[in-house]
Amino acid sequence: MRNPIVIAIDGTSASGKSTNAKLVARTLDYVYVDTGAMYRTLAWYCLAKRVDPHDGKAVANVCRRWKTSLQCAEGEFRQVRLLVDGYFPEKEIRTPAVAAAVPHVAAVPKVREWMKKKQRECIQFGNLVMEGRDIGTNVFPETDFKFYLDASLSERSRRREADGVQENLAARDERDSQRKAAPLMIPLGAALIDNSGETPEQTSSRIITEFKRRREARK
Ligand code: C5P
Repeated sequence: MRNPIVIAIDGTSASGKSTNAKLVARTLDYVYVDTGAMYRTLAWYCLAKRVDPHDGKAVANVCRRWKTSLQCAEGEFRQVRLLVDGYFPEKEIRTPAVAAAVPHVAAVPKVREWMKKKQRECIQFGNLVMEGRDIGTNVFPETDFKFYLDASLSERSRRREADGVQENLAARDERDSQRKAAPLMIPLGAALIDNSGETPEQTSSRIITEFKRRREARK
């Protein structure tokens, strides 16, 4: 495939990025990439190696040296995984300790450089639906298919609680929005989707409709 398409889905924490990105990937038969999981993996790895997530230099050192590989896993939909020492820490990266550490790790410029390079390498697997905080602004700024999801804070907190996770979403969003390197912001040209009160089916079909409209307009 010469020119794979990238659908970039950015947005606040618990705004439905993962659920909708997976639905879009499954419907279009694109490869799903959860970039938050990549940052979480580094945060988890630092904690496991007793490296302080607030120590930017030490975190950058870990990131320079860890042994990783990208894998495209088959299943209900195809999905990219970042393996560390051949292992994908699927459950370990979803703990409150990792959620608290991750925005610090993600604010380190050398980490963001490393992640951007890895995330761009995912194109080797084909057309992508990539979700994160800086995909449309920084990782694939050239794509025509940018989306920014949001929902009210109360609804987002409810969603996280329903997943059994208690955390201060507003604090994490503020850290992500205020960091110097590739902060969370609405990408230029993105379709804004406030999905408060919507089902994932409604939101993902809005994304797919807008994606197809843009793809047609490009022809
Ligand atoms: O999406 P998720 O909640 O898994 O993201 C975890 C954290 O990873 C975010 O709060 C943010 O600090 C960081 N992140 C980022 N850039 C991305 C994706 C995630 O900084 N593209």
